[in-house]
Amino acid sequence: MIQNVFFQKLCRVIVPGVFSLLLITCSTVPITGRKQLSLIPGSTMLSMSAQQYGEFLKTNKLAADQQQLALVKRVGQGIQHAVEEYFRQKNLSDQLKGYNWEFNLVESNEVNAWCMPGGKVVVYTGILPVTRTDAGLAVVMGHEIAHAVAEHGNERMSQGLVTQFGGMALQEALANKPQQTQQIWMTAFGLGAQYGALLPFSRTQESEADHLGLIFMSMAGYNPNEAVNFWQRMSAQKGGQGPPEFMSTHPSDETRIAKIKQDLPEAMQYYKAK
Ligand SMILES: [Zn+2]
Repeated sequence: MIQNVFFQKLCRVIVPGVFSLLLITCSTVPITGRKQLSLIPGSTMLSMSAQQYGEFLKTNKLAADQQQLALVKRVGQGIQHAVEEYFRQKNLSDQLKGYNWEFNLVESNEVNAWCMPGGKVVVYTGILPVTRTDAGLAVVMGHEIAHAVAEHGNERMSQGLVTQFGGMALQEALANKPQQTQQIWMTAFGLGAQYGALLPFSRTQESEADHLGLIFMSMAGYNPNEAVNFWQRMSAQKGGQGPPEFMSTHPSDETRIAKIKQDLPEAMQYYKAK
């Protein structure tokens, strides 16, 4: 994306030298060190997240199957602990400040899952036939949680705000255009196609989420080789009637699977079978 390149340049070249005030608009992805556009303060992301998540739970039906819910919570908490351990080892625990993890399963045919800032994770029952196993679910949850802890949502939301409001001050946009701001949030976090065209995650973000997700699932005791099987099943699913929501934000192709295979030896170093 052109904007992406522009802002990366801005972050790298202009900001450190001249406009130190603009520093707040750039941050660094934990772990990979990549510079990213980040217009929204972390505290604002967390409060918006809590609000949108609460709203989502009020308007969507939680799954009745307690066994499936227990599975989502168990796998989710395993990934959570792996993330906390990984960040602790890298001296980055501060980045998880304000996280208050929650894992929920909603009744829906959508093949979808997401994680909002602050660790609010939702899995849709429609994706369970594709995940099939605990390890398959760990692939999805590891990937989505990786997007969140790498702050890809802030990056997408920032890009959305710039595209839609251009020069308007961020605070003004957030305060005076609540409907449009909410819509950008929904699209940034992949909450259903009814909110309009989904912003695709960039290739870089996808690749980061795959890479980190593999490490997190391995640390949680799930065999990362399962990621290849899962993405092959997703690919087969795509061949059905129209791409499911998860797929439309997560372009799956041979390249992705090939990249995952390249990342596997590193992930295997973190893998301790349960
Ligand atoms: Zn993704």
